[in-house]
Amino acid sequence: MREPPKILVVDDEESVVVTIKAILQLDGYDVTTATKFGDAERLVRERTFDLVLTDLRLDDGDGIEILRTIQQRSPDTVTIMLTGYASLESAIQSLRAGAYDYLVKPSEVEELRNTVTRGVERRRLGLELRARIAELAELNASLQQRIDEATAELRQRYEELKELDRMKSQFLSIASHELKTPITAMSGFLQVALRRVRRIVSGGPEAAGIETLGPVLEQLETVYRQTGKLARLIDELLDVSRIQTGRIEFKHGEVDLADLADEVAKRMQLTTSVHEISVKRLDGPAVVTADRDHVEQVLNNLIANAIKYSPGGGPVTIEVGPERDGVRLTVRDQGIGIAPNQLEAIFGLFYRSPDRAARDVAGMGLGLYISKEIVSRHGGRIWAESTPERGSAFHVALPHVPDDVAAPAGTGAARG
Ligand code: ADP
Repeated sequence: MREPPKILVVDDEESVVVTIKAILQLDGYDVTTATKFGDAERLVRERTFDLVLTDLRLDDGDGIEILRTIQQRSPDTVTIMLTGYASLESAIQSLRAGAYDYLVKPSEVEELRNTVTRGVERRRLGLELRARIAELAELNASLQQRIDEATAELRQRYEELKELDRMKSQFLSIASHELKTPITAMSGFLQVALRRVRRIVSGGPEAAGIETLGPVLEQLETVYRQTGKLARLIDELLDVSRIQTGRIEFKHGEVDLADLADEVAKRMQLTTSVHEISVKRLDGPAVVTADRDHVEQVLNNLIANAIKYSPGGGPVTIEVGPERDGVRLTVRDQGIGIAPNQLEAIFGLFYRSPDRAARDVAGMGLGLYISKEIVSRHGGRIWAESTPERGSAFHVALPHVPDDVAAPAGTGAARG
């Protein structure tokens, strides 16, 4: 049940407070009385009343003072002033001071009851309104916060999409160019070769001997090399498409990363005469459970980049050594380096450095994205360190056994 409204009645005439108390108690109110200004002051300071009925002029004080105290302490408390005489002046004084209403003594019982009922109702509505406003303010704050958060998220998403879109367009132009270059070269070489072969086949006066087939052979070899380049570009594109559609598959087996590094280094050394590629094997196990072809692809990519991005040549060193629960592989070059603010971005899809030195090198911005995807699918990590114009180091850390390949206890299954 709701608590009855609390009412304080203040008047220096004992008979007045007793009468009013009796009337209001019959209406179910919880009534406190005071006949001294000091007591009344103390009561309104110590307790909170829903409504206070107070004499305007007390023997030892002023009712307006009590009203002021109430307004300071609990502004929602409704105050009704009791005046001993019907003076417009005192009524106005009370209302000006913030009283809700006033009653002239002796007042009619009905008038007293009605005024108190209205006052209590007003107090209730006041409190309710205040609570609603507080609720609304809270709701408003939390809505505003949610709107701000959602806006920020959308804005970020939009910026990301815009950036991706920009990179996609840039990628399309780079990719078309990258694909077009070997095709143009191939087409030119094939035309020349075809002309020679036609002359030989036609056997006419221009027909040359079999020895003129020498240059044709060279041209065909060049074309063959270009098809290899083309196939690698297309493989990269296919890899990205497989990654993006979740169709990349891994066949795990035991791979010795130092052996693999030796093998790849030897092969890559054939593609350059200005770099010396070497492998340094640090103490400790170098074997991981991984998909050999894909890890080889990562290594190929890192070494190819080390060569590409150190156009002046120099050493390219591959270090293979232990890492907590796994093996770490590092490819170092002394090339153009990478600006610190690009060290993470370079692993993004289509990312190509905007720097001049990097722009001069052909590429589609897919290699590191694919490498990162492969490494993280092995439960590993790939990251770069660099000093611009001094060189870069790319680190790959692979666990001995990736989590999703780890054999369930006791079964010994799923080891490749
Ligand atoms: P691509 O080489 O085809 O542009 P990658 O994804 O392999 O694409 O590399 C992304 C970018 O990272 C490159 O465009 C280049 O700016 C930078 N980068 C990669 N490797 C190196 C490196 N060894 N030295 C300097 N910059 C590098």
